[in-house]
Amino acid sequence: DVASRTSLPNFTIEPTTTPTDAATREALLAKPVFGRVFTDHMVVVRYSDEKGWHDAKVTARRPLSIDPAASVLHYAQEIFEGMKAYRLETGGIATFRPEANARRFRDSAARMAMADLPEELFVEAVDQLVRIDADWVPHGEGQSLYLRPFMISDDVFLGVKPASEYLFIVIACPVGAYFSGGAVSVWVSEAYTRAAPGGTGAAKCGGNYAASLVAQSEAKAHGCDQVLFLDSRERRFIEEMGGMNVMLLRDDDTLVTPPLTGTILPGITRASILTLAAESGMKVEEVPLDINEVFEGAASGRYREAFACGTAAVVTPIGRFRRTEGEAVFGDGKTSGQVTLKLKTMLTDLQAGRSNDAQGWVH
Ligand code: PMP
Repeated sequence: DVASRTSLPNFTIEPTTTPTDAATREALLAKPVFGRVFTDHMVVVRYSDEKGWHDAKVTARRPLSIDPAASVLHYAQEIFEGMKAYRLETGGIATFRPEANARRFRDSAARMAMADLPEELFVEAVDQLVRIDADWVPHGEGQSLYLRPFMISDDVFLGVKPASEYLFIVIACPVGAYFSGGAVSVWVSEAYTRAAPGGTGAAKCGGNYAASLVAQSEAKAHGCDQVLFLDSRERRFIEEMGGMNVMLLRDDDTLVTPPLTGTILPGITRASILTLAAESGMKVEEVPLDINEVFEGAASGRYREAFACGTAAVVTPIGRFRRTEGEAVFGDGKTSGQVTLKLKTMLTDLQAGRSNDAQGWVH
């Protein structure tokens, strides 16, 4: 594979000549709107079949110049990652399990027939951006620097085939909480599915998100914050939400979540919570969850808590699932359940350097 035969390029560092002044930056950091404010720099690395990965740069964030025939604009070879840099209680800044994002990025690239990016190059690129834009990592509780590594195909050629040129880019934005607070309501989509067996559900490609937007709009139209997708074959088993995984707490104190069957994104938050929960003595199960059983179980008390988990959402309590024939309400439908809160605290304490990093996840 390309990753193993490409030596890692050295980064050229070209600091911006027009940095944001400190007062403006601090004002932006005070209350960052998710995904609207960006830092001063970006990382760009080029790939071609002849040269491998080359021309690695940390440079001023600026618009790309792209040919109208660039293949990404037509055939959508695009993948991305989402991760965060956190301020540590002890001082300093850390990312969380970046090698897991790097690994998933390679898996996404393989599924989309894109260039293989070495994991060390991915992690180095992210580190370079965090280092140069360190002043952009906010200090507030629940705030962080959201990092968006992505890759696009850049061949100037109209033809349906894997491209031979790619751009790997990392940008960053200071963020606060993704949801405004309290438990979210979730619409169970009956009209749309997200991914089929053999499809791209486990890859983090832009196309998956394009396909989910109409379902997310449908959720909003039904007064819900988010959409929940069911499996595409039977429309019966819970898969995941538009941008996060789902977990439930059963009355036998077992944390349950759908298994990774290739149609859902293997969330790094999901994996981390499963590990942390098991280590804290909880039972955890990755099992198919029948939506009808979950609706009945919410009413009977079999399912006590539900939450969404992901880099952006962190751990967000789910107050209710809603579908055409009614609602499944968890707890009081408004506030977080006890176990949900405990798991969120375990995760965020680790990410902020407040607890012992036994796994070596803090980078
Ligand atoms: N599912 C989907 C569809 C997502 O977009 C995300 C966010 N990347 C997740 C799950 C959660 O993944 P992670 O915990 O790695 O952020």
